[in-house]
Amino acid sequence: MAQPRSWLDEVIDAIQSLGGSAHYDAIYQKIYDRQIMDFSTNSSWKSAVRQNIEMFSSDSDAFNGRKDIFYSVEGKGKGVWGIREEYLKKTDLPIPLEVLEKKKDIIKKTTENLTVEQLKSKSEETQTSAPRKRTISTTTYERNIYVSEYTKKRAGGYCQLCHSASPFLDKEGNPYLETHHIVWLSKGGKDTIDNTVALCPNCHRKMHILNLDEDVQKLLTCVHAAMHQ
Ligand SMILES: [Zn+2]
Ligand SMILES: [Zn+2]
Repeated sequence: MAQPRSWLDEVIDAIQSLGGSAHYDAIYQKIYDRQIMDFSTNSSWKSAVRQNIEMFSSDSDAFNGRKDIFYSVEGKGKGVWGIREEYLKKTDLPIPLEVLEKKKDIIKKTTENLTVEQLKSKSEETQTSAPRKRTISTTTYERNIYVSEYTKKRAGGYCQLCHSASPFLDKEGNPYLETHHIVWLSKGGKDTIDNTVALCPNCHRKMHILNLDEDVQKLLTCVHAAMHQ
């Protein structure tokens, strides 16, 4: 079953957050409380946890001979496992954003065949007035503020994809537009004025969700014209 991350990574982080060693029962509870893995479709998830610990421990007969991450704290059969010094992280690692995004995708897939009524009762069953807080980690690119401001000025208050006027003025009274990289930074695009356009929020979202070839071509043509004015 698809999981947002490997059981091994989740087990390491769980034991880590329990202080570096813990009994199986505490490890299960911690992993369950973290609500990152998908438990609904995997009734034998606890055995996946055990298998991963044992496969990655030379203290276990099931050791796979690869990374020797865990050690048996009180000897075999006691169920208390620790993370060896070299695998212990000095600080509690935030959960990578990608892992949470993947989890959302997995859950979203399971909702595809639900009726509106089923979705409603699922919502009522799980909704909470105090949403869970998480510390997450994410890697972003530093963007050049001059490039971005110039790009917006160059657009003159109009979206460079749909050519509509910006939908509202910001607090300073300037037309609100967003800078977009035609070739995404994450795909090796450059943070330069020949790779950036100013878009209205709708078109910006559209580019990130669909990134249609025809739209990319329009933006390239637009930026090319602007560069040769
Ligand atoms: Zn637009
Ligand atoms: Zn963008």
